[in-house]
Amino acid sequence: MKKVFFFKNSLFLIFFVVVASFILLFLLYGTVKLENTIQKKMVEISTTDVISIIKNSAETINRQLDKTKSYNVQIKENEALQKDIEEKLEALITQNIKYVYLLYKDERGVFRFLVDGAKSENKAFINQKFDIDNEKWLSIYTTKKPTLIKNKYLKQLSITYLVPILNNDNVELVFAVDFSVEKLDEINKIITLMKNGIIGIISILILFLIVLIIQAIKYLSVKRSAYIDRLTNVYNRNYLHELETFINLDQYIIGAIDIDHFKVINDTYGHDIGDKVLRQISHIILSSIRAKEDIVIRYGGEEFLILAKVKREDRFIALNVIERIFTNIQKSKIHISKKDVLEVSVSIGVNLEPNKSRTFSQAFKLADIALYNAKNKGRNNIQIYDETNKRFDDNNGLLSINEIKEAIEEKRVICYYQKIVNDEEEKYTQYEALLRIVDKNGNIVTPDKILPVIKGTFLLRNISKRVLKICFEKLLEEPNIMINVNLNPQDIVNDSVLDILKRFASKPNISNRLGIEISESEDLINCKDSKENILLLKQLGYKIYIDDFGSGYSNFIYLAEVNSDFIKIDGTIIKKILDDKIAFLLVKSIVQFAKEANIEVIAEYVCNKEIYEKVKSLGIKYSQGFYFSIPKEFDKKS
Ligand code: GH3
Ligand code: MG
Ligand code: MG
Repeated sequence: MKKVFFFKNSLFLIFFVVVASFILLFLLYGTVKLENTIQKKMVEISTTDVISIIKNSAETINRQLDKTKSYNVQIKENEALQKDIEEKLEALITQNIKYVYLLYKDERGVFRFLVDGAKSENKAFINQKFDIDNEKWLSIYTTKKPTLIKNKYLKQLSITYLVPILNNDNVELVFAVDFSVEKLDEINKIITLMKNGIIGIISILILFLIVLIIQAIKYLSVKRSAYIDRLTNVYNRNYLHELETFINLDQYIIGAIDIDHFKVINDTYGHDIGDKVLRQISHIILSSIRAKEDIVIRYGGEEFLILAKVKREDRFIALNVIERIFTNIQKSKIHISKKDVLEVSVSIGVNLEPNKSRTFSQAFKLADIALYNAKNKGRNNIQIYDETNKRFDDNNGLLSINEIKEAIEEKRVICYYQKIVNDEEEKYTQYEALLRIVDKNGNIVTPDKILPVIKGTFLLRNISKRVLKICFEKLLEEPNIMINVNLNPQDIVNDSVLDILKRFASKPNISNRLGIEISESEDLINCKDSKENILLLKQLGYKIYIDDFGSGYSNFIYLAEVNSDFIKIDGTIIKKILDDKIAFLLVKSIVQFAKEANIEVIAEYVCNKEIYEKVKSLGIKYSQGFYFSIPKEFDKKS
């Protein structure tokens, strides 16, 4: 706030200095004008008399001369006339009238003395050359009028007065007088003082102005770099803190925008492309808002906050702005190179009524809850916060992304194990490892409260890696067990996950005991690389289990293509096998196919003796379910 005050203050000062400078410049102009006027007046006063004397003398001389002859020749030939004129000229000399002389122009256009009225020691000779220093000397031959030439010297003004002496309308001689006008010393002093004073003050003011402007520019640029995000050119987090102090919650709705799967963009194309995407997204946001009213802040890596102004109490016009951002991003194609374009989507949470919150950060938090909800709903959508959002958030027990991140960091991701039983005596006891998170209160959280939140994000992969590591260590500890882990289709095509599996396989007696369960899903079937990678894993010695088979796609061709070792029949079908004929027939045909394709079958969700008997009667050798054991921490004895 203090800084803003400084800025306002200095703006005021700059304004004041500029105005003062203008007034002073005006004064300076006035002073110079005054000086000229005074001078003019002085010249006028002191020259009128002199000029009339000179004019009279010129006329007298003219009258003395014979109009029928050249004046120049007449005077040169007549010594008495010369003398007479010379005396007349000499008589004119006073303290102020310094020189009086009569000139003629020779045939080459050079001015020469004819008669000089100067005192004897300075007197010029007849025909002596006279150098003119002003064009006005020549113009007198065309204007044929007396002319005044001013020569300014420091203390005095020297004037040359030229009177043409005409013969038959031709200028034959020039009568020239040099006289000086003393400037009025006192006035002169005052005016000079005023002038210098004003110039001095103006110089100081201009200096001051320059300093002020430099300071203001410095302040503005510091302020700008402190509040503007360099990458995207929108406001940054610092501004968010500033904003809290003055924002009026009645006047805005709040939108929290988060780019979907941004981590994937970074991981796939690199950080620079990620930055490019960020710049383009912020560009789209800026071009979708009302520039003078709405505020955009980048408050996290790929998270933007929009404050859309509410006008005339209509919150839905402000909501339109946020919807416009959403659709413009959806429609846009981001060029990451000449050939490749990327389609990016965002999830948005909106708080339509920030005025109901006490503080800005609370209001923002509600937009964030709505954003979190938008992510849960599968991303690429807008959610508006309402009380039901809150219940959704509070009650359905989903962990938040942050809680999951923390759990990974704090090593609270663990595995429970559920036995897979076999009719025949086997060398190894087999388990399926199942993901669990221990929450902050020590409660065990199951995958249905974890996976929907992180579906499609890098966190899912991190969790898969963590589970793989836990199982690997368990296999090292327990040489007589086999463990199955669940991987997602994205894990199968991820290099870092594959690297881990390659590393495990380089250790003896590991890959033959680590089974990989992949859920049969559209994602898996549509992914080109997944097939190749599954075959690679098989080469490394891993057994492949196609999980949840029969729940949706039941793609027998795919099973054959990846040459899977096991099929796990989806639990929801097994559960119904006793009462539902279709379910029974489905299981039967799967088993038949598997037998011919040389694939083993596992029944899941075997929860009682009757079901167990039924699956056995169908020839299924492997079973898993509550009838045998529930998932729990590892325990050799059970
Ligand atoms: P979700 O759909 O859940 O939002 O997935 P996501 O991958 O976008 O989520 P998450 O917030 O976990 O990932 C954000 C990533 O943004 C993580 C971080 O590496 C990246 N990031 C943060 N700041 C920058 C940045 O300035 N430039 C680039 N290129 N990446 C950034
Ligand atoms: Mg994010
Ligand atoms: Mg994101």
